[in-house]
Amino acid sequence: MKIEIQSFKDLKNKYNLSENEKAFKESDKTLPISITSHFLSLINLEDENDPLRIQVFPSVLEEEENELENIDPLEEINNSKSSRLIHRYESRVALLTTDICPMYCRHCFRRRFTGKMMGAISNEEICEAADYIQKHPKITEILLTGGDVLTLSDSKIDFLVKTLREKNPKLIIRICTRMVVTAPSRITNSLIDIFKKYNSAPFYLLTQVNHPRELAPEAIEAVNKFLNAGIFALNQTVMLKGVNDNYDTMEELCNKLLFNRIKPYYVFQGDLVSGTAHLRVNVNKTIEIEREMRKRLSGLAMPNFMLDLPKGGGKVPLSDCYLKSFENNTYTFKTIDGQEREYPHIT
Ligand SMILES: *Cc1c(COP(=O)(O)O)cnc(C)c1O
Ligand code: SF4
Repeated sequence: MKIEIQSFKDLKNKYNLSENEKAFKESDKTLPISITSHFLSLINLEDENDPLRIQVFPSVLEEEENELENIDPLEEINNSKSSRLIHRYESRVALLTTDICPMYCRHCFRRRFTGKMMGAISNEEICEAADYIQKHPKITEILLTGGDVLTLSDSKIDFLVKTLREKNPKLIIRICTRMVVTAPSRITNSLIDIFKKYNSAPFYLLTQVNHPRELAPEAIEAVNKFLNAGIFALNQTVMLKGVNDNYDTMEELCNKLLFNRIKPYYVFQGDLVSGTAHLRVNVNKTIEIEREMRKRLSGLAMPNFMLDLPKGGGKVPLSDCYLKSFENNTYTFKTIDGQEREYPHIT
């Protein structure tokens, strides 16, 4: 895996930056700058507003203060059982396996944690997490997230999966990674072989693809390695201004994912994380896009649009409402193209 840009200085020296990009000031509060060679090769550098570029080139707009935002709007710290295990929903936990990513997304919602150079989870922390799950039998799934879990070495991943599965053989494991689009060469046969060894319960691959151009042939090949090992693939997209906040791009993205055997799972409304306001889309617009996608996309290609509510409220769907009223024992619904239909109440 080659990381072409490792600092803001690097970026300034190598590329012609726009005014907003140039005015960015790096500090210990900002998310680090890192861009992989692979992702850079997909960017049209002539275009200041290229939808891939604005996800990874920093901007002075990240420094704008907004009182509605903070560094932990989902109150993940409150729901944390250790520095790395988040237990917000009864049936599933999220494990922050590392804070490192090969490439940092400017819209990252876990900025409070990501890129702080804490590094990989220790073996001791892995054992603690496995014990915690064993003591809470209602937990059926774990999300291996971060940072990017696939920045861990093969031997660390082996230990992690082995430990989790030894103590909890039926635990479903989600591999949450953006590596298939940031650095697809990381998906080696030996990595896949590790997952194959611990097959007492399913794995699911959860990718993050925000624009159809990110699905380059190398990314598709990387996902195919998981699929061919029997690991089902789902995608989570972040709604981003100037990236995918229009009908045609969202439609193309969902169809391209589905065609490549990646089920569109969630589209997330941007969280109120400091430094990401310039990439955030109005909730109204997200709902409008959701409504149009319901017309254009097949049920298989249609993701759930979600909002992770502030103050740790958890996820709720963002969607138009089709039930208009309930009167005289009759439900009145709106059809997808805006007509009305009635359905009786059954007593
Ligand atoms: C989103 C999330 C999950 C997974 O939620 P699903 O709706 O099952 O995808 C689990 N834990 C935390 C802390 C989350 O934010
Ligand atoms: S890959 Fe995920 S964790 Fe890493 S910077 Fe991007 S959004 Fe944040």
